[in-house]
Order: sequence, then structure tokens, then C-alpha cells
Amino acid sequence: MKVLVTGGLGYIGSHTVVELLNEGYEVVVVDNLSNSSIDVYDKIKIITGKDFPFYEEDVCIEKKLDEIFSKEKPDAVIHFAAYKAVGESVEKPIMYYENNLVSTMKLCKVMKKHNCNVFVFSSSATVYGDPEVLPIKESARLSTTNPYGSTKLMNEQILKDVCISNKDFSAMILRYFNPIGAHKSGLIGENPNGIPNNLMPYIVRVATRELEILSIFGDDYDTPDGTGVRDYIHVVDLAKGHIKALEKAFQEAGVKYYNLGTGTGYSVLEMVKSFEKVNNVKVPYKIVGRRAGDIAACYADPTKAYNELGWKAEFGLEDMMRDSYNFVLKLNDEKRSNE
Ligand code: NAD
Ligand code: UDP
Repeated sequence: MKVLVTGGLGYIGSHTVVELLNEGYEVVVVDNLSNSSIDVYDKIKIITGKDFPFYEEDVCIEKKLDEIFSKEKPDAVIHFAAYKAVGESVEKPIMYYENNLVSTMKLCKVMKKHNCNVFVFSSSATVYGDPEVLPIKESARLSTTNPYGSTKLMNEQILKDVCISNKDFSAMILRYFNPIGAHKSGLIGENPNGIPNNLMPYIVRVATRELEILSIFGDDYDTPDGTGVRDYIHVVDLAKGHIKALEKAFQEAGVKYYNLGTGTGYSVLEMVKSFEKVNNVKVPYKIVGRRAGDIAACYADPTKAYNELGWKAEFGLEDMMRDSYNFVLKLNDEKRSNE
């Protein structure tokens, strides 16, 4: 089976490519490097000991996609390529709608032409908005609060309509909760440009003294310690979820929705304490006001993925803390030795 992975040099995509290669799939990666680096291509080859084709192309360009499909003839697509920064999406909505929607539509069009009928899509827990009931089931009410979230919901609708129009088409909509951690080799992981927006990369940069202090956005939420609660999932567990989704998609046509989370929520303070304990390092923090648009708590009910895909998260919080730190320490060592 040959799988075309868009955004396969990005954070989640690179870990999924590793798992696909380990499971014996043939892989083709298309990534325009807008938020990743070519080094990741080499690192994946080092980790797996396997080679695979890489195309530095924009998946919004239909002609390029058509050429790649003609040459590679993939059996399935896993579509990670997208812009993903919530704040930026508020400032540049059209850039987000264009990249995140056109990419999916062009892929669907080219897939139809080449009779490729299996699509796995990166959606997000952001489609649940501010959830009314916790833990969140796939059947929960959907709503979004920013253009990034809207692109995810619109993509879900597009894929549902494609499935209605083509009874052979299979679309797996995977709603990720909060991926953190890194491959145990420390060779691939999350490496955001500039100052991180998300909690985990921020904690790590404070621990390495690249940033001075963590600002905790609010301690007056209706949560056990007042700080925000999220469902953090190890990126390798998340990657494995894609393999299970792919297996299911080859068996059954139609659109399906799955939460990929652990089912457990941790607060910001719990995350800081756990990181400090596991890595034996201090993470200075201060409490500041709430961040606009944040919700109090969000965690998955992952039962459906377990029952229907046979998938559940295996890694614990300590693994996530250790692997996130290990990746950045190793990256910083590498940077120093290249200077
Ligand atoms: P990432 O930015 O690390 O990876 C995305 C990759 O896609 C990058 O390598 C980028 O260069 C590439 N890309 C973007 N637009 C492209 C285009 N038009 N053509 C070709 N390549 C393009 O992001 P990630 O964290 O790995 O996220 C992967 C997917 O998962 C995204 O769709 C994201 O919205 C979704 N998601 C991420 C999170 C998260 O917290 N990381 C949570 C929920 C959902
Ligand atoms: N958070 C924080 N300081 C930061 C970044 C995040 O206190 O510098 C909090 C944020 O308010 C939320 C949690 O950490 O409660 C997770 O935030 P993140 O941006 O990683 O994920 P999201 O809010 O998108 O689920």
C-alpha cells in the first residue's frame, strides 16, 4: 500500500511517516517547507533506515498534484498540510481559508481523477468550541471561535459531501486533542519558529533558559486549581492512530469521526510540576490574565476510537515531558556543534 502524506515533514506528519514506514507502508511526502525543514527528511531516513520520495510542492497546485499522482499512484492520502496558528488565522483569515480549504479540494479532485478513494484528515478538538459536556464525545455540538477552527469544520463538511457523492470514498476525520512529546530518538519533534504559542514548547524554552518565564493565562477558571485543563497526547500515540484509521478506511467506505486523545485532562500547573519533576529542572512562572478565546477545560472521550479502531494512547504524561525536553536539548546541542 502506498500512502501520500501531505505536510509529512511537519510535527505530526513526520512522526506518522516514521510509523507508516515501520509498518511496511510505502510513503510519498509532499511538503512545501512553509513550516518545516528539509533536515526532517534525513532524520526520518536515519530513524527508519528507509528511503522514500519527497516532493517540495504546494498541495494547492492541482497540476503538481496531478503529476505526482500520475507518477506515484498512491492508494491513500493522509492530509496534514495546513496552517495551524489560531492567532495568525484571526489576523490573516483569507490566507488560512485559502491554504487549508483549497488544499483539500484540490486533493479530492485529483484523487477522483486517479481513482484514489481513501482520505485521512487532520481535524482538531477546536471544532467542539467551548464544550458543554466533558469528556467530549464525537457527537458533541460543533462550533468554532476563529478562522483556523472554521477551516477544520469546513473541511469536515467537504469530506462528508465527497463521501455522499462517491460511495467508494472513505474519509477518516481525526480530531486531535493536544499533541506534545517527540520521537524517543530525539531526532524529530516540535520546533516552532519564533516565540511558541502553545504551552509545551513554551515550558521547554523556559527550562532551557531561551525564554525567561512562563506566563500562565489565568488561574480563575472553573477547574480544580483554576488553570486551564487540556488532554495532552504523545505525538507517537497520535501517529499510531493514523495507521489504525487507515486500516479501517481500506475496509469501509463513508465518513467517520474519531477523537484522538487520552481521556485525561491536566491543568497548566500540573503540567509545569510534572515537567519540573521528570526533568529535574526549574520552570519559573507567573500568573497573568486569561488569554482571549481560551476555554476552561477540554478533554476527550476516546472510547469510539478504541471500540472501532482498536486504538488507545499508551504513553503517559512523564513520557511526554521527558521526550519533549530531550528533543529540544538534542536540537540545541546540534545547533551549537554547527556553529
Ligand atoms: P506543522 O506546521 O508542523 O505541519 C504542517 C506541514 O504542512 C508543514 O511541514 C508545512 O510546511 C506543510 N504545509 C503547509 N501548507 C502546505 C501546502 N499548501 N503545501 C504543502 N505543504 C504545506 O503542523 P502539525 O502540528 O504537524 O499539524 C498537522 C496537522 O494537524 C495540521 O492540519 C493541523 O491543523 C492539525 N492539528 C494540529 C494540532 C497541533 O496542536 N499540532 C492540533 C490539532 C490539529
Ligand atoms: N497556556 C499558558 N501559557 C502559555 C501557553 C498556554 O498558560 O504560554 C495555557 C492555555 O491558556 C491553555 C493551556 O495552556 O489553558 C494549553 O494551551 P495551548 O495553546 O497549548 O493549547 P490550546 O489552548 O490550543 O488547547
